[in-house]
Amino acid sequence: MDYLELKAPDIMKFFELDSLNFKRKIIIYNDLELYKKHIKQFYEYKDYMCADTNDRNINLLSLEEAHKTKAHANMTVKDLKNTILHEFVHICQQDSEIDSIDKDIVWFWEALATNLGNPGAFTKIVIKATNEEINNFNSLSQNYLTAFTIGNYMLENYSHEAILEYVKYPQKLLRDSEEILNNAREWSTK
Ligand SMILES: [Zn+2]
Repeated sequence: MDYLELKAPDIMKFFELDSLNFKRKIIIYNDLELYKKHIKQFYEYKDYMCADTNDRNINLLSLEEAHKTKAHANMTVKDLKNTILHEFVHICQQDSEIDSIDKDIVWFWEALATNLGNPGAFTKIVIKATNEEINNFNSLSQNYLTAFTIGNYMLENYSHEAILEYVKYPQKLLRDSEEILNNAREWSTK
């Protein structure tokens, strides 16, 4: 796991964490059907879903099982490792939250995880989706590219401190999210 040891400290540094709140496991599913069942405890399963931290561990499909999906038919070992880093960003964000809100602002979680965890998998796009569509993240087409673009916008235009405030106090993000999405959309067209 040297790749995790190499990259994890930078991710923890971004969140200003010295350690995690508790030990996490990396659980590799070698049965796609079992993974679908796991996901359905939390929300509707979609073909692109291959990893998650819903139970605060890192759960992911084995390479062989990921290859049975349309979205990850060509997944490589490197992709898999980068997926673990993406999930590690989620773990760090979970441990950084001071307040929490009923319904997570998924686009923000994915904005940080795509940019800090596995940026090589995404490119910036012109955002066409409405704020409502972005908020309905799991059903949004190009959802991860949209989140990656919003994350690009925020990391370039907000201070590190301001972003960490949104991580710690999602209530603040909820208050500002319409404005952030509108600005990110406009920025993405330039
Ligand atoms: Zn994610």
